[in-house]
Amino acid sequence: MNLILLGPPGAGKGTQARMLQEHFGLIQIATGDMLREHIKHHTDLGQLAQNYMNQGQLVPDLVVIQMIEHRISEADANNGFILDGFPRTVPQAESLDKMLARRKLKLDHVIEMRVDEDALVERIAGRFSCAACGEGYHDKFKKPAREGVCDKCGFGQFVRRDDDRADTVRKRLAAYREQTAPILPYYQAKGKLTSIDGMAEIDVVQTQIRQLLRPQA
Ligand code: AMP
Repeated sequence: MNLILLGPPGAGKGTQARMLQEHFGLIQIATGDMLREHIKHHTDLGQLAQNYMNQGQLVPDLVVIQMIEHRISEADANNGFILDGFPRTVPQAESLDKMLARRKLKLDHVIEMRVDEDALVERIAGRFSCAACGEGYHDKFKKPAREGVCDKCGFGQFVRRDDDRADTVRKRLAAYREQTAPILPYYQAKGKLTSIDGMAEIDVVQTQIRQLLRPQA
């Protein structure tokens, strides 16, 4: 089963993708995480991407398309994947279709997580993640059970993303509206799109997604 999770920054795509990954044994492919890994390791690609990311802009299509093409060619992607943060433009969506067709892979569902934009800034500004395993948390909505300790792996250090500052968040939301939202009709026309309420509690959102996927799981 191959899925796309769509939605503006802060919609909770990463959280939902990680939960689906565990439940269905799919792999999460998050272009934002991959780009941040490149930045961390000071690669050329990372240096190029960092300038765009810090300004809340999208990284050029060719860069992310090549990255995804490479990633879905790896063996573990054969059992199915969840794309989180890709595609983000119409050319990326078109390239994805071609890549999948070349590999005789099918896209099963595109799930749009609908959220209220005003709530997003609060959601994004409060989020942080475990520095070791990447588990996501939030100052208000999802605190670790024991303060300062990751629920999942027990590590005691957390990180916040550079681009989660309010001014950059507003630019990222504008990029979503202008460049990413136009891919919704693209998938609607193919009969692949399902929109769900991303404002509900994390577990409720997860249940909605699983209900959609269950017939094929
Ligand atoms: P994310 O973690 O998905 O919010 O992505 C963080 C940043 O990485 C975005 O604001 C973009 O600058 C960049 N990025 C991630 N995925 C893509 C993509 N598919 N196309 C272009 N830029 C991307």
